[in-house]
Amino acid sequence: MTLNRAIWRDQLTPQERAVLGRADGDIAGATPDVLVVGGGILGVTTAAACAEAGLGDVLLIETGRLGAGATGGATGLLIPEPHQWSDPEPFVDFERAGLERWRDLQESVRGGVGLVELDWLGLAPHDSGYAAHQPKDVQWLNPGQVAELIPGLARPMEGALIRRQARVNPLRAVARLAAGLPAVATGVAAMSAQVSGDRVVSIGTSAGEIMPGAVVFATGRPPVLDGLPLRIPSDRVKGHLIVTERTDITLPGIVAPLATQIENGQLLAGGTFDLGDESPAVQQDVIDAIAGGLAAVLPSLHGVGIAYQWCCFRPRHPDRRPVIDRVPGLANAWLTSGHFRTGILNAPVTAAVLSRWIAAGLPPAQAHTWSATRFGGR
Ligand SMILES: Cc1cc2nc3c(=O)[nH]c(=O)nc-3n(C[C@H](O)[C@H](O)[C@H](O)COP(=O)(O)OP(=O)(O)OC[C@H]3O[C@@H](n4cnc5c(N)ncnc54)[C@H](O)[C@@H]3O)c2cc1C
Repeated sequence: MTLNRAIWRDQLTPQERAVLGRADGDIAGATPDVLVVGGGILGVTTAAACAEAGLGDVLLIETGRLGAGATGGATGLLIPEPHQWSDPEPFVDFERAGLERWRDLQESVRGGVGLVELDWLGLAPHDSGYAAHQPKDVQWLNPGQVAELIPGLARPMEGALIRRQARVNPLRAVARLAAGLPAVATGVAAMSAQVSGDRVVSIGTSAGEIMPGAVVFATGRPPVLDGLPLRIPSDRVKGHLIVTERTDITLPGIVAPLATQIENGQLLAGGTFDLGDESPAVQQDVIDAIAGGLAAVLPSLHGVGIAYQWCCFRPRHPDRRPVIDRVPGLANAWLTSGHFRTGILNAPVTAAVLSRWIAAGLPPAQAHTWSATRFGGR
């Protein structure tokens, strides 16, 4: 039977699932030192980093359940090195720092964050393949070597092997991190902001007013609040994913663009970019194309059933880079948004940047890269 939802929640323990709905009581009139709005991976890691940095009382609010947005539907790959072929070097450096911070969290968070270290193998079926760029740490494999790692390929292919990348179940990471947060209120929406001079003095929520010392908006796309006029262009890009039934095939980690080996002999595939599709519905033709693509490369997968199929939306700014900035014109409000296709990877390093900025007044290096005003609006 195919389930129309992401696999991630079903992999959690009952305790982890309960954390995703954590609601620590009445927050009306609260005066936290730091209020974080948004319970996706960016909000949860930011709240954790602020608490870790000793910034005082930290309160996280989320309108639904934790991980209800892009985070809960992501593939969860933490693969900076392959992005050398697609992203500018400073951004790849940021992503590398992201993976290092995930490794730190795996050590420091009670029970770990569920980080799985694994290799990445890019199949390069075209003659030009990846040859135009020669990143560090890549081992080029001839078709015989690829066939040893992946028997049964429909045709010979060269490959590019990069060791020690990683993945997480994004909801497990959210649950493990959120379990250690001082205060969480799910089911609470931020709706308005009251500003006096250059400071946010209160945030109006569905559960009453909150008067924070500082506030961080981590709402996926830029927040839409009465009293907080932000003009930062953004859109969202839908993606579909599938998880197969258990198969006899064991992939050597993440095989791009084919699939990733996950628990119980299942394969995770997809991550389409369905530009212009704004419908929240799973599109069967896209699912069929993902499954057909798998079987075209590995014919033994022909007819393998689909256990899970789902879609979700990546938040994006026009230049595909996130915003990590103070809210223009405000001294005690920050935002991070538009993490597009690498928000899981980049969350812990973004959180570290924000907590240091709040604690010590230090903006990130190359602040213009992440600035909210780089698009020309206020
Ligand atoms: C198909 C797909 C595959 C992906 N694969 C990967 C991958 O392999 N690796 C990777 O690094 N990234 C991946 N991503 C990208 C990643 O999912 C996102 O970049 C990341 O989840 C964004 O996190 P976020 O916390 O900013 O947003 P979200 O997860 O959307 O969280 C924002 C939260 O804020 C809440 N919120 C919004 N407004 C309010 C309000 N007013 N008050 C209270 N709460 C509010 C929302 O309910 C939501 O829960 C993928 C995305 C998709 C769609």
